[in-house]
Amino acid sequence: MADFDFDLFVIGAGSGGVRTARMAAAKGVKVAITEDLYLGGTCVNVGCVPKKLFVYSSHYADDFQEAQGFGWSVGETRFDWPTLRDNKTKEIERLNGIYKNMLVNSGCTLITGRGVMIDEHTVEVAGKQYTAERILVATGGWPFIPDIPGKEHIISSNEVFFLDEFPKRAVVVGGGYIAVEFAGIFAGLGAKTDLIYRGDLFLRGFDQEVREFTAKEVAKKHVNLNFNCDITSIEKQADGSLLISTNDGQQIEADCVMYATGRKPKVEGIGLEALGVEQAANGAIVVNNNFQTSVPSVYALGDVIDRIQLTPVALAEGMALVNHLYNDASNADVDYDLIATAVFCQPNIGTVGLSEEQAREQYDNIDVYVSDFRAMKHTLSGSDERTLMKMIVDKASDKVLGVHMVGPEAGEIIQGIAIALKAGATKAVFDSTIGIHPTAAEEFVTMRTATRS
Ligand code: NDP
Repeated sequence: MADFDFDLFVIGAGSGGVRTARMAAAKGVKVAITEDLYLGGTCVNVGCVPKKLFVYSSHYADDFQEAQGFGWSVGETRFDWPTLRDNKTKEIERLNGIYKNMLVNSGCTLITGRGVMIDEHTVEVAGKQYTAERILVATGGWPFIPDIPGKEHIISSNEVFFLDEFPKRAVVVGGGYIAVEFAGIFAGLGAKTDLIYRGDLFLRGFDQEVREFTAKEVAKKHVNLNFNCDITSIEKQADGSLLISTNDGQQIEADCVMYATGRKPKVEGIGLEALGVEQAANGAIVVNNNFQTSVPSVYALGDVIDRIQLTPVALAEGMALVNHLYNDASNADVDYDLIATAVFCQPNIGTVGLSEEQAREQYDNIDVYVSDFRAMKHTLSGSDERTLMKMIVDKASDKVLGVHMVGPEAGEIIQGIAIALKAGATKAVFDSTIGIHPTAAEEFVTMRTATRS
């Protein structure tokens, strides 16, 4: 066998790359990992983690308001953006350090710089070449922004975490996870917020009733929703503000325009083309079930293969690959079924399994249980926020096919429900489960009568 510097060379130290590198190193594999930007990738630096910290912050405005119904007098409140931004950055830097220690302590060789594949066993970083039996590409994704006049004034989720000043007026474009979450963050932190989405209702692919309910709740939180709308141009005005023109004839003034119009695989400048690694039309690296590319010694996983762009999925893919390559597992199967997700808008969406529309397509007879209520807390808080809970059941087998929630802590609640669905729980199992009282979650075990079939 050829003599290589490393058994495995990982390009990209994001969620998928780091997990694979650490798990492989723990098995005695000689691993190198290279990164040219930040340790921890999108999730830690400009994604899940700082976003969730901002979501927490954005809730306080409502909390201060609602506290009064519970007897608290809250004095004058004021939001200070630099405090939030800089405290967040400090926490992220702490996490970067933890990632570095985890990698080094697990025995990986950490190399700083952009990894470029020179041939199927060689990676060059900062002018130095390293050979490896296998190479793993885990370079993630990057925000996509369409070409429009004034594109230079647009920010993406890469920049929003570091703004010098918090905008008084913000426009968010897109109808996916990031757009809906950031519209809530901007509005919660006090910006006059517009969300612009090209379709007739945001969150395409989610359960229709969940989408409609969420639109009503998000609008209650002072996000101005502009559906069937697209920006045609953005101009910088003399006072530094931005003038946004839309295809439905609106002109909106704003201090910040953030596009959240999807992410593209990050594949430029890493040597894929020269090596002949097969890519899909959008650049995503094509892999087989074992995360192997068309070049047998090169593997890829996570956002760069564009299956499901979620951190826990990249982690699962990394662990499956290590099992396959270094633990004699015959293949690297990942179960992509019943992946629960949350959108951290306000209130949250939590979802697992089929939407009502998908269930109607796939099953002959379904029962749909829906509960739409004002949470107990709001009897005193004065808030008009409502909660939606929904369960879809196959009539023939009694199996629960999908569970959806829009409401506080929906993400936390649906994680537990996802375990039940993975275990194949029937509606009878839910019904025989005794609730925790008084909670919103107990509604899922007390839905006795189908709302529709
Ligand atoms: P999404 O793919 O979720 O949404 C992209 C949105 O942009 C869609 O509404 C799409 O519209 C719209 N869009 C695409 N192209 C254009 C265009 N040219 N002009 C106008 N609108 C356009 O991407 P996000 O950027 O929101 O997030 C990327 C991924 O990151 C998500 O898919 C998700 O997997 C992950 N993520 C997960 C989070 C979580 O788990 N909480 C949080 C944040 C991100 P249309 O629907 O019409 O195609």
